[in-house]
Amino acid sequence: MICFNEPTYVEKGIGYITEAILKNRRLNGDGVFTERCTKWFEERTGSKVLLTTSCTHALEMTAMLAEIQPGDEVIMPSFTFVSTADAFVLRGARIKFVDIRKDTMNIDENLIESAITDRTKAIVPVHYAGVGCEMDTILDIARRNHCFVIEDAAQGMMGSYKGKYLGTIGDMGAYSFHETKNYTMGEGGLVLVNRKEYMHRSEIIREKGTNRAQFFRGEIDKYSWVDVGSSYLPSEMNAAYLLPQLEIADEINSKRLKLWELYYDGLKELEREGKIELPYIPKECSHNGHMFYIKAKDLEERTELIQYLKEYGIKAVFHYIPLHSSIAGRKYGEFVGEDRNTTKESERLLRLPMFYALGEEEVEYVVGKVKEFYSRRR
Ligand SMILES: *Cc1c(COP(=O)(O)O)cnc(C)c1O
Repeated sequence: MICFNEPTYVEKGIGYITEAILKNRRLNGDGVFTERCTKWFEERTGSKVLLTTSCTHALEMTAMLAEIQPGDEVIMPSFTFVSTADAFVLRGARIKFVDIRKDTMNIDENLIESAITDRTKAIVPVHYAGVGCEMDTILDIARRNHCFVIEDAAQGMMGSYKGKYLGTIGDMGAYSFHETKNYTMGEGGLVLVNRKEYMHRSEIIREKGTNRAQFFRGEIDKYSWVDVGSSYLPSEMNAAYLLPQLEIADEINSKRLKLWELYYDGLKELEREGKIELPYIPKECSHNGHMFYIKAKDLEERTELIQYLKEYGIKAVFHYIPLHSSIAGRKYGEFVGEDRNTTKESERLLRLPMFYALGEEEVEYVVGKVKEFYSRRR
C-alpha cells in the first residue's frame, strides 16, 4: 500500500522532544526550541516571524493586524482551503472569489482588478502546490488600490518567486506545519510580518493581547492587557519536533524535488499524447515539490483513475471543493465574474502520493500504473 502522505520525520525529533520534557522542563510556548525555530526562519527569510498553533491561526493574526472590519471585502481564489476565507470571515469580511489560472491553479492576476471596490481591504494570493502567484502584478494592483497583500503560503515554504521566498513578498504571509505539509510539527504554523509597523502588535495579538513578549525581553517591568488577542503560541514539544527538519531543510527540499521530477519525466509522454496535463512552473518561480498532481480529461475519468490506482494499493486523492459552491462560501462570499476554470479544473485534478519518506521505486510504480490505466482505455 502506498499512502498519499506520511508526516515528515527526522530521527533527532524524538531526542529534541525528550530534551524539552526532561532537560529543559519547559513545555509551554516560547522556550528554547521555539526560539531556535524562530531564529532559523528569521535568518532564512529576513522577515519578523512568529511560530503559531496553525496556519489558520497565522491567517487569523494577519486579519487582526490588517484591522479587517465588518463590511470589508477580501479577494481570494475559490480554489483554496477553508481557512483562507474563514480567517477573514471571523472578522466580519465578505469574500470575493476570483477565478484561477488553468496552468498553475493560482488566482488569475488579470481578473483581480475587476473585483476591487472601495471596500476591498486585502488580496490573499494562495501559492498552490508551492508554486508562486504572479506577485508583481498583484502587488501593483494592491498598491494602486491601497489594500493589503496577505500571502497564504501554507504550502509554500522554501518556494520562491523572482528569488524571494513565498510568504515574504506581501505585507504578511503564513506557513503551515500541518502533518500534510513539507515541514511539520503535527499542527502548527508561522506568521511572517514583512512590514515593520506591524511587528510590535503581532507579538501582542499572539500573546492574548498582552505585552508579555516585551516583559520577557526586559523592556518593561510588568506585563498587562493592552490589546485584543488570543493564544496562538505552540507548545515546546511541537517546536522540538519541527526544529531538526529545519536543520536539514535543503535536503528535504531536494529530495521532494527529485521525486517530483521523477513523476514529471515518467508522465510527460502521456501529456505529449494529450491524455493528461501536468503541472506548469512559471519561469519566475522555483517550487518546493509540495505536491505532484495530474489532470485527467474530466471528473468521470478521474474517478475511474482513483479507483484503478486503489486496486493496485495506491492512494491518490482529489483536492478542494471550490469554496464558492460550499454552504459557508455562499453565505459569506460570492464569485466575481465567470467561473471558467475553478470548478472545471478542480474536478480534473488528482494528487499522487508525495512525501519525504517516499521511495523512488514507489514513484516509478505509481507512474507505471497511471500509464497502464491510459494504455488500457484508449
Ligand atoms: C494547509 C493549508 C491551510 C491550513 O493550514 P493549518 O496549519 O492546517 O491551519 C491553509 N491554507 C492552505 C492553502 C493550506 O494548504
